[in-house]
Amino acid sequence: MSKILDGKKLSNLLALKLARKIRGLKIKPKLVIIQIGDLAESNTYIRNKKAFGEKIGAEILHKRYRKNTKESRIINDIKNYNRDSSVHGVMVQLPAPKNFDIERVLESIDPKKDVDGLTAINTKHLFDNHEAFVPATARGILSLLEEYKIRLTGKKIVIVGQSSLVGRPAMLALLNRGATVTVCHKDTEDLEKETKRADILITAVGKPNLISRKHVSKGQMVVDIGINVLKNKKIAGDVDFQNVSKIVKAITPVPGGVGPMTVVSLFQNLLKAYALQT
Ligand code: NAP
Repeated sequence: MSKILDGKKLSNLLALKLARKIRGLKIKPKLVIIQIGDLAESNTYIRNKKAFGEKIGAEILHKRYRKNTKESRIINDIKNYNRDSSVHGVMVQLPAPKNFDIERVLESIDPKKDVDGLTAINTKHLFDNHEAFVPATARGILSLLEEYKIRLTGKKIVIVGQSSLVGRPAMLALLNRGATVTVCHKDTEDLEKETKRADILITAVGKPNLISRKHVSKGQMVVDIGINVLKNKKIAGDVDFQNVSKIVKAITPVPGGVGPMTVVSLFQNLLKAYALQT
């Protein structure tokens, strides 16, 4: 049986560290979470972020907009938050409704307050290995691996999934740390061959059991980003945990792996934004 990379336990430890830091601050760090529409998954993610933020003593403003709200109104509000010195971080919960030009909305966030690291400027910093704000999920992967003292330099890392939100930022952040990174996607011809040769395999797809025992080999670390709601309402990742965990050296569970680390990372970014602005 492989070692479990327990993101839940780690996130509790890191929460204590963050809470201690925040207790020492005169002004509380404040995060604005913008939600457009009323997607059930977004409601859950935001609830988790609010609960974590409040637990560590940060201030959270959850700003909800109906899905037919004018883009210009949201952009205008974001610009006001940019000017408001009591606000240190602004993020938009994704996905936004399809009728929105979400790039325009994201680009209106001041890069210094862009705690999700999704503005063009912060993406360019990541691209150039001058990281400012690494997007929360990618940062969550890094923190998890770092906390477990898993060396990245020189390692063969295979990422399955190439989205702008997860796969691509993770690819850049890992490359910036000296890993040799391969990114797989729908058109990858022989997925098994690619995944098997990884030292560290990361999956961010959104398909339960995509990664089976045939895709892995002994000695590997497996980081499962996928969050899939099954018919029985249980949450599963992309990896067939039961079988894969009998083969590999270490593995993240879902839930309780990268998910909690992503929330921690958002608030680590908030404290970084705070330091830049105060
Ligand atoms: P996404 O935008 O739908 O991207 C999925 C990626 O998977 C795409 O790049 C796609 O390839 C690739 N893919 C689909 N089928 C494949 C297959 N059969 N073989 C290989 N690659 C395949 O999803 P996302 O936003 O990146 O999210 C991915 C998963 O992570 C979801 O389950 C999401 O809920 C979860 N997630 C978790 C966290 C967390 O904190 N743990 C945070 C964010 C997202 P193409 O590009 O070729 O289409």
